[in-house]
Amino acid sequence: AFNAAVAEAQDALNAFIVTTPEKALAAAAAVDADRAAGKPLGKMAGVPIGMKDLFATQDVQTTAASKILEGFKPKYESTVSARLWQAGAGMLGKLNLDQFAMGSSNETSAFGNVISPWRRPNDTAPLAPGGSSGGSSAAVAARIAPAATGTDTGGSIRQPAAFTGISGIKPTYGRCSRWGIVAFASSLDQAGPMARDVRDCAIMLEAMAGFDPKDSTSLDMPVPDWEAALNDDLRGKKVGIPREYRLDGMDPDVAASWEQGIAWLKDAGAEIVEVSLPHTKYALPTYYIIAPAEASSNLARYDGVRYGLRDLPDGAGLQDMYAATRAAGFGAEVKRRILIGTYVLSAGFYDAYYTQAQKVRTLISHDFTNAFTQCDVILAPTAPSAAFALGEKSADPLEMYLNDVFSVPASLAGLPAMSVPGGVDRNGLPLGLQVIGRAFDEQGVLNAGLAIE
Ligand code: GLN
Repeated sequence: AFNAAVAEAQDALNAFIVTTPEKALAAAAAVDADRAAGKPLGKMAGVPIGMKDLFATQDVQTTAASKILEGFKPKYESTVSARLWQAGAGMLGKLNLDQFAMGSSNETSAFGNVISPWRRPNDTAPLAPGGSSGGSSAAVAARIAPAATGTDTGGSIRQPAAFTGISGIKPTYGRCSRWGIVAFASSLDQAGPMARDVRDCAIMLEAMAGFDPKDSTSLDMPVPDWEAALNDDLRGKKVGIPREYRLDGMDPDVAASWEQGIAWLKDAGAEIVEVSLPHTKYALPTYYIIAPAEASSNLARYDGVRYGLRDLPDGAGLQDMYAATRAAGFGAEVKRRILIGTYVLSAGFYDAYYTQAQKVRTLISHDFTNAFTQCDVILAPTAPSAAFALGEKSADPLEMYLNDVFSVPASLAGLPAMSVPGGVDRNGLPLGLQVIGRAFDEQGVLNAGLAIE
């Protein structure tokens, strides 16, 4: 039934880059056979999911939504996807995303933008599903996939979840192996689940997480049974409200949703305390130095030799081939990031930008460490507004980057953070509430998320 729904919704949503109905059916048949043989079933047994097209999937085209990888069929499977198949999940297909996961609206994909299943009342203007995991959010919100994988470098699980009224968690940096995930900014990239509710996220995260010797930053820690320990009784817990997130000119609907979230957590027994994260205002510029710096280094590997596209003009030499391939293969936003990254890493500017950004990153981390001496989790909005229309922000990159203002601080600090539905705005569009936790405390985040849901 999900395979049929995926096919039926493709024209309206453009959520998938390729579909793999045979994989979903094969996984279901394998689960049936195991069940008949009395074998134990995995956590995700029989669940068909969408896979963000940033995860390498063996013999299935993996593009990162870029022309430069068109036709690339990896010979290997990412650790996270392999774990999901081992747990009994099946693959419906590869989900569309912002090119190389760079974006907040899914408009940078080389395969056309994803369209949110949501609309404003009496308005047919197509809305952004958020980004970069916009194929994932649209597919789950439209109920054509029960769950999907996402990745989050600066908000790409949380913001699309917020825009489409679903839940998604970015775990502590290192929980999910990055091996086999197309790299964007390696010190920030984390995989996580996007699903209809908090319980589904807990189950799927358990299947995805775990130590992997193939990723040098993988956490060597046991994966707790988050689902079993879910508990929305928050008596004895303190919830921090960061003063600096109350921005001047904040959308009143977003402010109201935040107030509502505070009330829900109080009802669940939590004590509310104000906390301060004094370096918040530097998070966005810090992120937009560090992420492009790492991206410019990671994307050097797309040279026309090893993967996908090769543009070899007549009589061209090696350098010409590199240049032609990269000019034809990368989209405008990817090129912008490579240029910014190359600039901030260049000999004359390294200290002024990159080193400085690393120092501020440490200060931002310390802000959270201090705040978590006064509270157990932090509650904030996920994004400064509900979903915007496609095309509304794509002409101005800075305007688009501002959308990440609430999501990048937790990314820079490597902390677990989740978005859960937090009511609707004046147009009836979903808003997201974000719960940020201490490192390794996914449980605390999930429990607060459950209390809000
Ligand atoms: N919107 C942010 C960016 O464009 C975050 C992307 C992400 O988390 N992958 O970098």
